Amino acid sequence: MKIKEILTSKEGEKLFLLGNEAAVRGVLEGGISVASTYPGTPSSEIGDVLSNLAKEAGIYFEFSANEKVAFEVSTAAAAAGLRSFVFMKHVGLNVAADAFMSTVYTGVKGGMIILSADDPSMHSSQNEQDNRIMARLAHIPLLEPSNPQEVKDLLKFGLDISEEFEIPVLLRTTTRISHMRGVVNVGKIIPGGKKGIFKKDPSKYVVVPQFVVKMRQRLQEKIIQIQKIAEKSKLNRIIDTGGKELGIITSGAAFNYVIDIVQEKGIKVRVLKLAFSYPFPEQKVLDFINTVDQILIVEEVEPVMEKEVLFLLGKHSLNKKVYGKLDGTLPIMYEFNPDIVSMGIEKIIQGKFKKEKTLKTQLPLPLRPPVLCPGCPHRPAYYALKKAIKKLRLNEKDIIYSSDIGCYALALQPPYNMADYCICMGSSLGVGSGFTKATSQRVIALIGDSTFFHGGMPGLINTIHHQEKLLLVIMDNRTTGMTGGQPHPGVPLDGMRNPAREISIEEVAKGMGAGFVKTVDPFNLKETEEIFIEALKFEEVAVVITKHPCAMITATENKKSKKKLRYKINQEKCSRCLLCIKNFTCPAFFINQNNLVNINPLLCNGCGVCIQICPKKAIEVIK
Ligand code: SF4
Ligand code: SF4
Repeated sequence: MKIKEILTSKEGEKLFLLGNEAAVRGVLEGGISVASTYPGTPSSEIGDVLSNLAKEAGIYFEFSANEKVAFEVSTAAAAAGLRSFVFMKHVGLNVAADAFMSTVYTGVKGGMIILSADDPSMHSSQNEQDNRIMARLAHIPLLEPSNPQEVKDLLKFGLDISEEFEIPVLLRTTTRISHMRGVVNVGKIIPGGKKGIFKKDPSKYVVVPQFVVKMRQRLQEKIIQIQKIAEKSKLNRIIDTGGKELGIITSGAAFNYVIDIVQEKGIKVRVLKLAFSYPFPEQKVLDFINTVDQILIVEEVEPVMEKEVLFLLGKHSLNKKVYGKLDGTLPIMYEFNPDIVSMGIEKIIQGKFKKEKTLKTQLPLPLRPPVLCPGCPHRPAYYALKKAIKKLRLNEKDIIYSSDIGCYALALQPPYNMADYCICMGSSLGVGSGFTKATSQRVIALIGDSTFFHGGMPGLINTIHHQEKLLLVIMDNRTTGMTGGQPHPGVPLDGMRNPAREISIEEVAKGMGAGFVKTVDPFNLKETEEIFIEALKFEEVAVVITKHPCAMITATENKKSKKKLRYKINQEKCSRCLLCIKNFTCPAFFINQNNLVNINPLLCNGCGVCIQICPKKAIEVIK
């Protein structure tokens, strides 16, 4: 399927879409005019598709500097009466939380939908966070789709509810929903792209104590009204296979596992699927509970609904057994799968399973630890930094490498071992600054270009202001690499592929008052090492920007220009010192069956940096 079909397909047609692609069609059918994000897996593909289609769809789309800014951009559009869409990974909502919590108070004029892509089992995240709790904390309506069709339909529905009640709506996907593919019946696209009008009303939009007390009351009234809608909504439906012994309450991806097992094993059960799950439809759940003998709650990640059900039973003095995470029937953490859910159900209704069919979903796969790509500009930067440290006879054990979120954190692997602490986007500087105060150890902070703009800048200001001695390496690979290569404020292109004002990291650092700021191409190993030596001798904050395009960018350019150089090992010169494999660690190097060092032409990116590291000059260009 071509990406363009997400925009061009007509009402009634069917598309085979990823959950993230279906999200784009959903908001186009919902008539949005503005969309914004900061890229983060598992929601990244939404931005990539919008980046391709926004211009043609006539809407505005941007990759913002961070999730809070993205949230504020979409909030403003909704305040001006337009429909807007902001999306991010689950931890992105933490960054946006300040704006998120207050926007629920002010409310919106045009519909506004927020998509949070949670990542149970942390496939590409620093924590496992259930943003259904954020919905409850903020008092914001919550929708939970179970497949791409529902992603599309619920986003459209959410925009309608948002506009009707003048409140933003949160839609929670998880990795499995974002990345699963399914057939989607498409509806009609409502053209967006209008200009809105912001009607001044400080009592609605200015969150000072004078107004927020009333806003809080209005919010409560809205939630009570919306709960009535959730109670009656067909989105919360019952699937009955004929039994009353067990009732299962479930939502999101967990529903798919439940229904697969129920059908596969022929279990007689009643299932309540909640897709409009907050405000919690208490009466609907209560009515359901009254029709079954015992209840199992199947939900990822936190026992959110389980606690609501237990509360409900207590409130109505009902005595029914509730199974779920809290009693150990199901695991308290990590993503579920059909085996896990199957075992949970089997614990309750032993002996009523069709034993002949055993689902096997956990196939043993080889471990593949992530590594920096061949041709990655971070590798020579680390290599040169290590050499500079060695030349200055600094003790590596006394250096704290304060790293950050991005590909460069992969330097935690040997032989570089250059990531000692990393907690969240932009933390390398705040944490690095803290270590300079708390210890007498030397601190080297490492951050990427996109992450620097996202959350690193306040940390650098803090570090410079407090006159700390710290080396900051900004690894500028001209893109947001880890999420697939999205633009950021440091490149001359925006999310709609229009020319944009490029913000110079060097000028920003100088403007903040850093006394030492130098930019170097890390592919020039000698010069990079020399600059690191200079920077490590500097007595205050020293900033070194290692600037070279990401290997994904050079690979694309090589493909277009067909000018990729190929390299080989001259076996007569090679001494088998293994420096290229053990110290430099480009994954294109390997030892063949004859115990000779070789370069895999399929992996080699043609960067040529390895020529500079071979002491025997054994790496040569294939002429
Ligand atoms: S660094 Fe050079 S000499 Fe050493 S193993 Fe690699 S190719 Fe051979
Ligand atoms: S040229 Fe050398 S360093 Fe670059 S990708 Fe190929 S093998 Fe790796």
